[in-house]
Amino acid sequence: MNKIEHIGIAVKNLESSNQLFSKLFGETHYKTESVESEGVKTSFFKVGSNKIELLEATNPESPIAKFIDKKGEGIHHIAFDVDDIVAEVKRLVGEGFVVLNETPKKGADNKLVVFLHPKTTNGVLIELCQEII
Ligand code: ZN
Repeated sequence: MNKIEHIGIAVKNLESSNQLFSKLFGETHYKTESVESEGVKTSFFKVGSNKIELLEATNPESPIAKFIDKKGEGIHHIAFDVDDIVAEVKRLVGEGFVVLNETPKKGADNKLVVFLHPKTTNGVLIELCQEII
């Protein structure tokens, strides 16, 4: 794994949260994107060399809606940049981690993504992502 690619934060209302985080960072988000297959609407902020992703559910069955129901708003996942997501998934499964999707899927921000089940990572949802070139 290379570095933290971004941190994902679950929010109830993307529009008001965009305003809040714009005030916090002193800069507005640089993009918004919907990932319909995941039932999320996202926005991205740059903070120095770091990225923050805000996620709002677009339907009640969305993983984000379920997360907020259970835990409330807050940090939802930490995403790590990898060079070869298929090799990395293979390595991690070999180490006993449980992945939520073994086949990488298209996520936001032009990435292939795989999530690790939080039950095998001390309760932290981990996202692996590889830039699609
Ligand atoms: Zn993410």
